[in-house]
Amino acid sequence: MARFRSVLKSKGLKSTPQRIAVHEAMLALEHATADQVCSWIVQKGEADISVASVYNILSDLSSIGLYRRVPSIGNKTLYDISTFPHIHIYNRRKNEFKDLVDPEFVSMVESYFKQHPPKGYRIDDIEVQLICHPGRRSKTDSI
Ligand SMILES: [Zn+2]
Repeated sequence: MARFRSVLKSKGLKSTPQRIAVHEAMLALEHATADQVCSWIVQKGEADISVASVYNILSDLSSIGLYRRVPSIGNKTLYDISTFPHIHIYNRRKNEFKDLVDPEFVSMVESYFKQHPPKGYRIDDIEVQLICHPGRRSKTDSI
């Protein structure tokens, strides 16, 4: 939270209770839409805030590099507290995202598309998402 406050200060933004509540929600949720962040804040009863305000705060904080907007096909933007390149594991049963940190794979994909750019397009960002459901526990999980 100290880093959060200092980043806001360095960008000329105040640490308002609403911004702090949004950041606390993002720290807890890690990946979330404005609706999910708003629900979390309302459940905690930490601040009086509307979905529109949450959306604006998420958008502002993404613009200064605190969160990453995850491109999605639907009309709801997903915000990610992890701003470094990583892979997403999407659990379709729980509708939740987890990070898979694999710099070697990310570097391999980036390098491939630098050498083989899709014809007629410029790549803005690369998002690799594994769509999964929980598997059976392996023997090592039960030990
Ligand atoms: Zn992520």
